[in-house]
Amino acid sequence: MYTYAGNIHIHSSYSDGSGNIDEIAASAAAAGLRYIIVTDHETLAGLPEEGIRHGVVVIVGVELNRESNHYLVLDVDRLPEGNEENPQEMIDRVRKSGALGFIAHPFEKGSPYIARGKSYHWTRLPEGGFTGLEIWNYTSYWRGRVTSIPKTIYWFLFNRKAAVDRPPQEGLALWDDYTNRGMRVTAIGSSDAHAARVRVAMIPVEIFPYYFLFRQINTYLCFKEKMSREFSEAKRQIYAALREGRCYVSYDRLYPGKGFSFTAFCGKSGEAAAIMGEEISWREDLCLAVRSPARRSEIRLIKNGCLVCRGDGPELSCRVAAPGVYRAEVYYRPYAGKARPWIYANPIYIRS
Ligand SMILES: [Zn+2]
Ligand SMILES: [Zn+2]
Repeated sequence: MYTYAGNIHIHSSYSDGSGNIDEIAASAAAAGLRYIIVTDHETLAGLPEEGIRHGVVVIVGVELNRESNHYLVLDVDRLPEGNEENPQEMIDRVRKSGALGFIAHPFEKGSPYIARGKSYHWTRLPEGGFTGLEIWNYTSYWRGRVTSIPKTIYWFLFNRKAAVDRPPQEGLALWDDYTNRGMRVTAIGSSDAHAARVRVAMIPVEIFPYYFLFRQINTYLCFKEKMSREFSEAKRQIYAALREGRCYVSYDRLYPGKGFSFTAFCGKSGEAAAIMGEEISWREDLCLAVRSPARRSEIRLIKNGCLVCRGDGPELSCRVAAPGVYRAEVYYRPYAGKARPWIYANPIYIRS
């Protein structure tokens, strides 16, 4: 198994971001990422700049809708139309075209101190038809935590880690709710990077530069073969992993998520049966194994949205007593303080 770190949901100067695509790719290379997905607001102007830049696979999709119900669409070569009033219609149309679609920041809260409290949440959550959803969007979450001026100054200048403490609980519950209804839903983490350049008391400030955000919440993709050096093949591999949910979200600021794995295996032979995102039939000797890259870990196994097994340390394995949707969470335990939400893996769907 090969895993590749990358960042999804990035805005360039083709919409309201400050950097051009080549500069963004250079920042991603400096942060050690292998792929990035640029999704400007309602434009595919960046599409001719797709390719491998500074060793990073650069893919261009789009973020549809303006006021609410933001939807990330990938694998398109012509701009699809959004639909603010009836997002399900847009989702069904995108699906029919064969493209991938992700619900962006469904529960965004907004801040009274930013854009006059405006939030870009979902007003009508869809029934289905999408590929997945963002469970952890750095910029959107950060904005929702800005509820007072002293907190903002403290979190922005002195302790950025403290503001982004965990993915929104409503988002995790929504994800579990969809998968409990029998759907396969890929969870992704993202930056929603803009690197906005503003002036504070006449001093120019860049709010969360690309390089900074590329070291926060990333999505790691799992491939069975190495990533191709050829762009169109690498892009196909990336889309396949996202479509199937062979990926996990990591808050790399706490500790790099590289080296994590979540697999199902046959208890008797030890032979691998499935990895995250895959669907298999239940059998009696089935076990699940989670491996964390950090020794100071707390691993939790969630079945159909409920905690079924937990353990301290870098490894956890558990017999699968019954079919269900199983996903793994890892909390990172710093030397002082309590364990902090860190890695969220897509489910292994164990069917009866
Ligand atoms: Zn958005
Ligand atoms: Zn965005």
